[in-house]
Amino acid sequence: MARKKFICGNWKMYRTAAEAGALAREVRAAAEPFADKVDVAIVPPFTALWAAGAELKGSRIGLGAQDVFWETQGAFTGEVSAPMLVDAGCRYVLAGHSERRQFFGDTDEAVRKKTRAALAAGLHPIVCVGETLPERESGRTLDVVGLQISAALSGLSAGEIERITVAYEPVWAIGTGKTATSAQAQEVHAALRAILRQLAPAAADTIRILYGGSVKPDNAAELLSQPDVDGALVGGASLKALDFTGIIQGATR
Ligand code: PEP
Repeated sequence: MARKKFICGNWKMYRTAAEAGALAREVRAAAEPFADKVDVAIVPPFTALWAAGAELKGSRIGLGAQDVFWETQGAFTGEVSAPMLVDAGCRYVLAGHSERRQFFGDTDEAVRKKTRAALAAGLHPIVCVGETLPERESGRTLDVVGLQISAALSGLSAGEIERITVAYEPVWAIGTGKTATSAQAQEVHAALRAILRQLAPAAADTIRILYGGSVKPDNAAELLSQPDVDGALVGGASLKALDFTGIIQGATR
């Protein structure tokens, strides 16, 4: 089953609005020629969404946000809702990035609510799962990611599950320069797809499962050659248009 590859750049807490506009403009120029073959999105901080989105207008490069709160509005100081992200031009939103889980206490239940809220607003959530190093070393990787994805998708209809993207991001590989081998990534991606097949049999072959964790231009093509690796969620390397483009090119091979 051919799934169009998807390369998504998570800019984390980097770039002012002006800087983000400039980087979005560079990414647009570099990535647009590949848009027939590869879906591309950038995920700037909240404060830069409008500036980056303005530079993407009329292009096929998507815009996403890094997080969302599950209520639509209310007295929730500091939070941003899914309809607000739609208003800012977003098509995608991350849910359950490991930095949210690690530093801000996002639980599986919170990830589930965020995923539901994103879907209800018409966004495409990118649901992130991944094991820590002790979990991998004790042989629990597949159990951990299996529980995370099952929790995030519990109660969703097959039609809703169809609209999500999954990102497998081993926590030990994020921002560390360590990358899962392509075989390690493929093993987990295949296990995730088997779970998706149980939850939404008709959609399991179309849902994209991205790999994330120190993806760079020189390791992207090998990772992306695996049958169940349908793209990449890129952190550090997405902040340099040249590196990000190198990864996109790796997805065309
Ligand atoms: C990420 O933030 O999702 C990520 C994978 O970061 P990095 O590419 O820097 O490891």
